[in-house]
This record gives sequence, C-alpha cells and structure tokens, in this order.
Amino acid sequence: MTEPGADVFAPETQELLACAEVQCARRGVRLTKLRRTVLGLVIESPRPAGAYDLLARLEPAHGHAAPPTVYRALEFLLEEGLIHRIERLSAYVACVHHLQHHHHEAATGHTAQFLICRTCGRVTELHDAELAAALARATAGQGFRPDSATVEALGVCIGCAPAKVSLAVPPP
Ligand SMILES: [Zn+2]
Ligand SMILES: [Zn+2]
Repeated sequence: MTEPGADVFAPETQELLACAEVQCARRGVRLTKLRRTVLGLVIESPRPAGAYDLLARLEPAHGHAAPPTVYRALEFLLEEGLIHRIERLSAYVACVHHLQHHHHEAATGHTAQFLICRTCGRVTELHDAELAAALARATAGQGFRPDSATVEALGVCIGCAPAKVSLAVPPP
C-alpha cells in the first residue's frame, strides 16, 4: 500500500531509488522525501528534465513547491553525484554510473561526457577514461587547472540518424 500522496514510480525506478538511499545513508546524508521524488522524476524523464518541468510534475503529489525548494533538492542530488546538470540544456539527467551500475564509491568527481541528440533530445552519458585523460593532459600542458571538464557533444543519435549515413569513426 502506498501512503496517500505518495509518488508512484515504476519498479525499476524504485530499485534505483533504493540504491540511491543506500548510497546516501553510507555517506551520512539523508535522501528526504522531496529529494527522493525529484530524483525519481529525473530518472523517469525520457529527456533531460528542467527545474520547471520538475516543479510541474511535483504538483500532483506534493502540491505547489517553491522553485528554491526544488533547486535545493537538485543541488543536493548534484553534490551526491546522483544526477548531472547538462549545461547546454539547463536540465538534469540521472547519473547512470552511480545508479544503474551500482557503483558505491565516492560520489563526486567522476568525469563524464554527454552526447546530446538535437533531434530527439536524448542524452547519453559516457565514461571514456582516455578522453578524460587526454583532456587532463591538454589542459595541464597549458598550465591550466580545470575545476570541471564536462564534454557535451551535440549531434544526432543512432536512433535519429538517417539509415544511410555511416556512423563509422573517421580514421585519425
Ligand atoms: Zn555520471
Ligand atoms: Zn535522437
């Protein structure tokens, strides 16, 4: 039985949320009801979710939530490494690394690259260690110390690409 006003998420989402709860408990932080709901909504969103989409989707179960409340919840989820912010879209995606692969190591600091499809709006998260290392080498070569180095590649995903277009990687 779900309590009145509780959020109904798909079983797969519930599983990921349970995983997130374990990770938070291990780090001594609390995945409050609102944070949990916001994370669930981000997980279930087929496209990166903007703060205002999330506000609208919180309404049925949580009533009118003030924007700062949602921003604080998003801030928390970002700090815990459970979601990422896609700067180009001002929107959020769940971190596949932490949630779907059940990695339980330290939350922050993992480097990721994002492939953003400009046709369907889907975002794919990559963890290419070589790309991250190349970027670190290149910036160090300039004596530059980046705070973050998130790659956001804009293009067309395999599902949206016309069938005849070759998606082969060109030779270096
Ligand atoms: Zn991630
Ligand atoms: Zn696409």
